[in-house]
Amino acid sequence: MSTSNQATTEETAEPESALETARRQLRRVAEHLDIDPSIVTRLEHPKQVHEVTVPIERDDGSVSVFTGYRAQHDSVKGPYKGGIRYHPAVTRNECVGLGMWMTWKCAVMDLPFGGAKGGIAVDPTDLSTAEKERLTRRFTQELRDVLGPNRDIPAPDMGTDPQTMAWLMDAYSMQEGETVPGVVTGKPPVVGGSKGRTEAPGRSVAIITRAVCDYYDRPLSETTIAVQGYGSVGAHAARLLDEWGATIVAVSDVEGAMYDPTGIDTHAVPSYDEEPNAVTEHADTVLSNDELFELDVDIFIPAAVGNVITEANADSIGADIVVEGANGPTTSTGDTILNERGIPVVPDILANAGGVTVSYFEWLQDINRRSWTLETVQEELEAEMIGAWNAVCVEYESRDVSWRDAAYIVALSRIAEAHESRGLWP
Ligand code: GLU
Repeated sequence: MSTSNQATTEETAEPESALETARRQLRRVAEHLDIDPSIVTRLEHPKQVHEVTVPIERDDGSVSVFTGYRAQHDSVKGPYKGGIRYHPAVTRNECVGLGMWMTWKCAVMDLPFGGAKGGIAVDPTDLSTAEKERLTRRFTQELRDVLGPNRDIPAPDMGTDPQTMAWLMDAYSMQEGETVPGVVTGKPPVVGGSKGRTEAPGRSVAIITRAVCDYYDRPLSETTIAVQGYGSVGAHAARLLDEWGATIVAVSDVEGAMYDPTGIDTHAVPSYDEEPNAVTEHADTVLSNDELFELDVDIFIPAAVGNVITEANADSIGADIVVEGANGPTTSTGDTILNERGIPVVPDILANAGGVTVSYFEWLQDINRRSWTLETVQEELEAEMIGAWNAVCVEYESRDVSWRDAAYIVALSRIAEAHESRGLWP
């Protein structure tokens, strides 16, 4: 057991990390279930964490050295699956915590995947396109032995995009001596990416928001929504909900929020991908981030970064319901406060799971060498999201728990059952 103690000391060196939040959630949910405690202990730790040094030649001929990680949490249900992020705040612990969330996310969707997350501690806006390409190819090369369509399948996350995934696929394939599209998802469709993958996390947030509104008998046409973040998740969710009749009263980027109580024309506001941080330039009324959180709306969708709803502001959240678009936007203390205030929080592992679900569709298309139409992707995604929502509703209604715990209960019982039937060997 010395290994486990050692790991614990090292991993708790950064308090309040994603890892600590993830572990607390796991322990709390395990109490609701009759699971062998040794399985819970195993799940508190990642199966493996790979740390690599990634040196690259800069455009000026100098060399910079970055640190990259791939945390592989659990693979009882299938190959590891999860994104790769390029962000200055990437740490080993963050990757482990986010990798654990991927295990639950895949399990709540009942996908044949385990959970992983990786990244490089780098600010991608400091790199030219050519430098980003060299970084991605070298990172792939360093991780080559642990990746593969049946081992570990990365995808885009913060700071990475379909082009990044195409470089990863190419670097891996060149070394394998054959094109291996299934090694990564979120690629451009021309090299085996799925139609509808880029929009999928936002689409699932919209589908789940609609389901929540139905559940609480709130017609979308009478629902007001504020969205933090106007990137891939926030913009797609806001635009879809706008199309479905909801009133989007605020959307934001790092500069602040655009606010219009009569409803924003979301298609007229450029998303981060279309024009980075331009939301407030198009706004008549600009709110601060704090004011955005306090808005008296029906639904608040944090779809930017993690740890934004905390003990410092959970008391002043003005929305009736929170639907998590980002990964880990609510800290444990923030979550407790919202629960005490009776504000339902629909968790990230369900709401934004459309990304990894369409990643699964992409992997199937790559293996079968047959692409699906956008219509098929959207229909299948809708069916999978509603199926997962119904499974979570069953737990929510039959136990006195939050939406987050209900989703975790669905996920953890599936993972624990799989571990029980496979057993511990050697
Ligand atoms: N990075 C995305 C997430 O956090 C997608 C992961 C994937 O498709 O593997 O869900």
